[in-house]
Amino acid sequence: MFDNLSERLGRTLKNLRGQGRLSEDNISEAMREVRMALLEADVALPVVKDFIEHVRERAIGQEVATSLTPGQVVIKIVHEELVRLMGESATPLSLNVAPPAVILLAGLQGAGKTTTAVKLARHIRDDLKRSVKVVSCDVYRPAAIDQLHAYADQAGIEYLPSDSSQKPLDIARDAVATVRRQGVETLIVDTAGRLHVDEDMMAEVQALNSDLSPAETLFVIDSMMGQDAVKSAEAFNNALPLSGVILTKVDGDARGGAALSVRHVTGKPIKFLGSGEKFDALEAFHPERVASRILGMGDVLSLIEEVERKTDQDKAKKMAAKIKKGGFDLDDFRDQINEMNRMGGMSSLLDKLPGTGQLPAGALNQVNDGMFNRLGTIIDSMTQKERRKPDIINGSRKKRIAAGSGTSVQEVNKLLKQFGQMQKTMKRMKRKGGLQKMLQGMG
Ligand code: GDP
Repeated sequence: MFDNLSERLGRTLKNLRGQGRLSEDNISEAMREVRMALLEADVALPVVKDFIEHVRERAIGQEVATSLTPGQVVIKIVHEELVRLMGESATPLSLNVAPPAVILLAGLQGAGKTTTAVKLARHIRDDLKRSVKVVSCDVYRPAAIDQLHAYADQAGIEYLPSDSSQKPLDIARDAVATVRRQGVETLIVDTAGRLHVDEDMMAEVQALNSDLSPAETLFVIDSMMGQDAVKSAEAFNNALPLSGVILTKVDGDARGGAALSVRHVTGKPIKFLGSGEKFDALEAFHPERVASRILGMGDVLSLIEEVERKTDQDKAKKMAAKIKKGGFDLDDFRDQINEMNRMGGMSSLLDKLPGTGQLPAGALNQVNDGMFNRLGTIIDSMTQKERRKPDIINGSRKKRIAAGSGTSVQEVNKLLKQFGQMQKTMKRMKRKGGLQKMLQGMG
């Protein structure tokens, strides 16, 4: 799922990377592309419109942090909006009711209800460490009850027998009474599906729902059905107090529209993804992770967030102005070291950049956080005047600074030499554009 969408969004946002500034024009063009990509992924039109509007509003007039490129800013906004679209945070099962907690599964025929009932039971037993049984109320489709039993046997899950001569409501009531008596904490009730949403089915599942007062009423949808799946979810949501949605068959080549639309259309969270026919193929739904998967740039995103969170934009601007004037002194150097430490040190920044994993270990070792801290300590042992005008640091001052910082005169000399080189480099960078590039490189 999401392969095409991911590829198209990636291409669009890459094109923005080369842009120097975020203007209404280049944002509009990018948004046209994003809109096409979403529509092609079968995302519902109102959802697309809303999404684009949000991203556009936030992107236009967005101040671009010195250390980020405009493309990165837009990627970040698109990512945040994707997360918002899918519901911010993961929503686990809520089973804290007087036992037994009943989970009612509804959905169209073939959506994957029966398979999902067994997958859920395994999750509840193995991960949530709760006792659980399953029961089928599908008295219409021949062999539906047998199918649940066969699946449950294969997965080692306990089931309660039922019979197609019984009424669904009776099956469910009996099952609740039985698990209560047995002290089983959770009961999963599989219901009948139909090919289309029809009144009889709705009435039946409504009756089951009001009689059982389930802890969870989950709607199972087939992600391969795209917008049709979303429409059926909407119809059920209007008839039933759904507590969440389970999206199946995400391992297929579904385009992703259902995953991106269903929350917006129903207001209900996606709780799980079914990602295969096997009974362990059930994943908790994490909007954040899915959004990163869609954009296909997980590590870059966390780097962007970190830079945004931790760099003080005003400071960066002041620093840039100072460097331009050639007034960069040892106080500023000290600030830069502090800034780097606040961001987790040089090595942590490098860790997050794609591709650094392939660098030889020796190269990374040269970037030693301890080394920067030592430089900081030396600067801390200087007087204010010395930091502003390093030229006045003569032999006796060097001795005093070395003693104060627990280092040696050689180390003080080395620092002063490095600082001298830095100043020279900065003077060379003063030509147009160079400086900004360097600061972006630091981010
Ligand atoms: P029900 O009619 O809603 O009870 O649907 P079933 O549980 O019988 O599933 C219908 C078909 O979809 C079966 O062939 C399942 O193996 C298949 N299926 C269910 N969930 C998934 C899934 O997450 N991935 C894949 N690839 N197939 C699934």
